[in-house]
Amino acid sequence: MAETSALHNITSNIPHPAWIEIDLKRLQHNLIAIRRRVGKSRLCCVVKANAYGHGLIPVAKAACDAGVDYFGVAHLQEAVALRQAGIDLPILVLGAIHEDQIEDLIRYRLEFTISSHYKATLVAQKAAQLQARCPVHLEIDTGMHRTGVRPQSALALIDYLLSAPCFELKGVYSHFVMSESPNNPVTLQQIKDFLSLKERMGERGKSLIWHLANSGGVMFYPESHLDMVRPGMLCYGLSPQQAMPDLQPVLSLKAKISYFKVVGPHQGISYNHTYRTKEQTRVVTIPVGYGDGYRRDFSNRMHVLIGGKRYQICGNVCMDQFMVDIGNNEAYVGDEVVLIGKQKNQEISLYEMAVAAQTDPREILCHFNDRIPRIYITH
Ligand SMILES: *Cc1c(COP(=O)(O)O)cnc(C)c1O
Repeated sequence: MAETSALHNITSNIPHPAWIEIDLKRLQHNLIAIRRRVGKSRLCCVVKANAYGHGLIPVAKAACDAGVDYFGVAHLQEAVALRQAGIDLPILVLGAIHEDQIEDLIRYRLEFTISSHYKATLVAQKAAQLQARCPVHLEIDTGMHRTGVRPQSALALIDYLLSAPCFELKGVYSHFVMSESPNNPVTLQQIKDFLSLKERMGERGKSLIWHLANSGGVMFYPESHLDMVRPGMLCYGLSPQQAMPDLQPVLSLKAKISYFKVVGPHQGISYNHTYRTKEQTRVVTIPVGYGDGYRRDFSNRMHVLIGGKRYQICGNVCMDQFMVDIGNNEAYVGDEVVLIGKQKNQEISLYEMAVAAQTDPREILCHFNDRIPRIYITH
């Protein structure tokens, strides 16, 4: 399947010793599992940030085939890329819009977010000039304090959006602050405030799409599923606490060993010698580094799989490579190494990487850039 990045277009036939495998069958399996879980709610597949590093266009096409209802993106440019690739489903731009984007939002038939009265007036002016009718969703701030109107100001704005001829109000939504564990009091309050607004809208709100649940909401807060859910992480097979064990991670990161050497006792390895050998040992080099997005925080912390065994990274991750001490075990130049994913009955998960780097698994995914080619598995 075609890759969208410029670098990879140039180099797609050039052998490279590291690659990301994206299993689109697993993506489709996950989408079907999510659908089963949310019943009648529409499914909006969130594909912002290059589909969480998985590749926007191949992921979106596979998701279309699996029958999703909507795509969610952060920015106009992501939505335009989808339209230019021939994606015809509704696309919701979740991020706050800017005045100079309104014309393209209209031209590409995008649904976008109204997050304040001010933004609504900007859109109204432009839409009047172009004699356009804009499908929009109103964003309510129920606690994130990022974008969106306060629930107290929402009713007046909804009335305006319902009455102004240049708007077609499609939906009302909000976003969770901390939904990745059950019974969180902040999340429960957000749900309460959102549902109370829906209640106050009464009949006028009946035809709107009310949506609130991200991945955490899908997993732990069924009362938040409402008319549509917006999972990102879950689509890619990542569920904290294994709350949906039927999901399958879509992305694997693999490489071939590029070098083998024997290192004597008490020798430092890599920049600044942050690792020292105890006795004579075997060290292999893996051709992936922070220049690919494999973070330097993994130095002396993360593990990789070689021959179905786990080994820790030794010394600092360099820009283009890192080393692994394999002790007395065997490995050869060209052997396959798994940096994320399964080998035999072992697995390196994104969650353990997130713990190692003290971050969120999404951030690790977003770091992988175009130097590592992405290979798409479709059957
Ligand atoms: C990113 C995002 C999502 C998806 O979040 P996940 O936790 O990855 O499921 C949903 N809604 C909004 C508004 C977002 O910004």
